[in-house]
Amino acid sequence: MATIGFIGLGNMGGPMAANLAKAGHTVKAFDLSSDARAKAVEAGCTAATSVVEAASGVDVVVTMLPAGPHVRAVYTGPDGVLGVAAKGTLMIDCSTVDVDSARAVAKACDEAGMMMVDAPVSGGVAGAAGGTLTFMVGGPDAAFAKAKPVLEAMGKTIVHAGGPGNGQAAKICNNMLLGITMIGTCEAFMLAKKLGLDAQKLFDISSKASGQNWSMTSYCPVPGPVPTSPANRDYQPGFAADMMLKDLKLAQEAAARAGASTPLGANAEALYQLFSNNGNGGLDFSGIIKMIGGSDT
Ligand code: NAD
Repeated sequence: MATIGFIGLGNMGGPMAANLAKAGHTVKAFDLSSDARAKAVEAGCTAATSVVEAASGVDVVVTMLPAGPHVRAVYTGPDGVLGVAAKGTLMIDCSTVDVDSARAVAKACDEAGMMMVDAPVSGGVAGAAGGTLTFMVGGPDAAFAKAKPVLEAMGKTIVHAGGPGNGQAAKICNNMLLGITMIGTCEAFMLAKKLGLDAQKLFDISSKASGQNWSMTSYCPVPGPVPTSPANRDYQPGFAADMMLKDLKLAQEAAARAGASTPLGANAEALYQLFSNNGNGGLDFSGIIKMIGGSDT
């Protein structure tokens, strides 16, 4: 069992740290919020009073922070992880961040004699609590091999996506596709309604035909066909529209830098921005059907 410094105990990090403690690891947990630290202690972790304390004398550091600037600051800033962690410490960043930040921090870790993987997740708060997250991991083979048993205490599916930053690349490519297929699915169901085609009939046909996709068959944006989908509980998340918007923005930034043409991804970002600006950012991302269908929804 390892001694682990865990930094960022929010909606995702809190339950993930708890699962590491439950698996028998010694977890030194730090968050800027004292409430979050207190919850971690209740869940079997020890509270650290700073990033420096969390990263000192540990085998592994795990971070679960809001975005790229937080991750850069926590690792490479003054009083950051790299100033105090012992050489050979394994760094695992589970936050969803831009590919450039992931690669820059991985490079700084390498130069400081430490191993790092980027390991963003899918599965949301329920997956974090249940220990069933999917991890998409970028980093050298040796770092992946060392990180895998730690990640297994927090998730069910651990996939090595390639070198540094490739976990983040996989995450944003997947979520861009998810945003696009959700909007397409919403358009199909709203067109069906206008044409007098029953939603359940469209589902029965399309889920077995070439329009089949996850947004329809596992997360249907109209109530009825998939009883567990957020459409059946007035679009309470689930996966909030603002989280989808964050990932679509990351995808567009990456596409612009890489010179990739992603016109549907750009449209998806614009539509989710509009949905969010209308005050719906806290709704599930499938709730965008309300905007697409307007008064017909
Ligand atoms: P959150 O805002 O609930 O938690 C982030 C935590 O980081 C907060 O508690 C905050 O106090 C802490 N923090 C910020 N700066 C810090 C610092 N310098 N030192 C210590 N703590 C600091 O966010 P979340 O929902 O837990 O998401 C975390 C990451 O996981 C994000 O990158 C998000 O995009 C990603 N993610 C979230 C979900 C989800 O469903 N919530 C799903 C997949 C991925």
